[in-house]
Amino acid sequence: MSGRNSDPRDGVVAACLAVARLGLSHGTSGNVSLRRDTKSFFISPSGMGYDILAGKDIPWVDFDGIWHGPFRPSSEWRFHRDIYRARADAGAIVHTHSRHATALACAGRGIPAFHYMVAVAGGPDIRCAPYATFGSQELSNHAVVALADRKACLLANHGVIAIGPNLDAALSLAGEVENLAAQYVAALQVGPPHILDEAEMKRVLAQFATYGRQDAGDPDLKKGSDA
Ligand code: 13P
Ligand code: ZN
Repeated sequence: MSGRNSDPRDGVVAACLAVARLGLSHGTSGNVSLRRDTKSFFISPSGMGYDILAGKDIPWVDFDGIWHGPFRPSSEWRFHRDIYRARADAGAIVHTHSRHATALACAGRGIPAFHYMVAVAGGPDIRCAPYATFGSQELSNHAVVALADRKACLLANHGVIAIGPNLDAALSLAGEVENLAAQYVAALQVGPPHILDEAEMKRVLAQFATYGRQDAGDPDLKKGSDA
């Protein structure tokens, strides 16, 4: 999403467009940010449709709440700031109001280990933070707590926060959380889903540490000759 010499603000716009294209948010709901340095971040402007955004429209905000740029930053700048402050592993944050995750959040429900892929958010469940007014410090405080040892959480009566080392990772996780939420909502309709126990989720989390890597450990799998 971002080339070596490209303007990081173009990456924020590309991620905003991807959020809309993937159907993860509608209209001006949701927002995207990218860490700028240890004390500031780029963030999508408040209340602007993503389709009209250009890189130069993206403001940046420092941890004291001072903003720079042509447009006022997202009303959710507080939780973006507080997550960057609390989490050295956060390089980018995607906030959405995606349909199924928001449906669960409106019932105050998080996503338990109904499927092993829940581990993609870093733990055995994806928590739902208690409700607080959008843009408030209270919402930010709740979000930071719900994200402890996790890379994603739901926000009651609101939506989703996904964090990652970069925009691609945060965006991909936001999509994965929505997919899991849709599967969980469907599973609930079939009957009470079986929830994987703690020991199994520990195994899954350990396996996730090397999943997709060329050095993923499998004692029964050996590489043959390339002939
Ligand atoms: P902004 O347009 O201010 O980013 O607000 C959208 C939103 O999702 C608030 O929670
Ligand atoms: Zn929102």
